[in-house]
Amino acid sequence: MMIASINMMLEIEHFDEIVCVKTATEQAGQAIMWVYAYRIGNLLFDAGCGNAREEVRNCPELEGIERIIISHYHEDHIGCIRAFEDVVIYAPEQSIELIQNPDELGEFFQYVWGQPEKVEKVLPVPDVIIEGDFEFEAIPLPGHCKNMYGIYEPERKWLFSADAIPLPSKKTIAMPEENIPQIIATMKRIQNMDIEVLFDGHRGPIENPKEHIQVRIDFLHKIKDEILSYHEQGKSVIEIQTALELEGPWYMDLTEGRFGIDHFINSVIKDSIPIDNEEVQSV
Ligand SMILES: [Zn+2]
Repeated sequence: MMIASINMMLEIEHFDEIVCVKTATEQAGQAIMWVYAYRIGNLLFDAGCGNAREEVRNCPELEGIERIIISHYHEDHIGCIRAFEDVVIYAPEQSIELIQNPDELGEFFQYVWGQPEKVEKVLPVPDVIIEGDFEFEAIPLPGHCKNMYGIYEPERKWLFSADAIPLPSKKTIAMPEENIPQIIATMKRIQNMDIEVLFDGHRGPIENPKEHIQVRIDFLHKIKDEILSYHEQGKSVIEIQTALELEGPWYMDLTEGRFGIDHFINSVIKDSIPIDNEEVQSV
């Protein structure tokens, strides 16, 4: 892929007391995909994509950050950690090593998000995080990757959910670390929480998010049942993909296997055992 130059985008929006920090790489005048970090007082939840590190470093609205809570190790959530100095960084325990020594990204993801830099010290996320008048509980949100956390403020009924809710309403591609039945189980747990605003990692604040989430649960349930039924008939992954007429998005080949329909189908098959025992799978 030929890349002449990379233009970065940084946008700041406000939602109640929250500063929404949107970062992305620009392509033809538009963001390829936004990723959101959120400033709450002097706390930052997630840190944006690495290509925007200089913009974030020089952004007046991001001065005075003291603590960063990282939801998970993916590069679009950790890339700007190093834009901040003298901050305490927290992350889910099993992600710490991957945040300290990030994997070398392929060309496509270098372009879309940027390579995160090494980070020296990362502490495990505490169970309770107090910031000004807010008291957040750390909530495990497994499925998107093994060890992802969100933070929940029960008084305000806010959940900062990172990548727990799939971006497309009809998700049919996945990364190898994704566990589709567990994503469904986590979404159902979120549906049972008292939430007025969901602060999504790629869509920003979503008010009254029940319908937004339910559409995604319903679709994944339906396609899971179809995949399992074809699997029981003895069809292979490729045959299931053909039978369901699943096609990847324009960028899928560029991800060099990081995103695939095969990962999605394989997860539905192998992670569905024992079928629908979502209690077990959410542990
Ligand atoms: Zn992610």
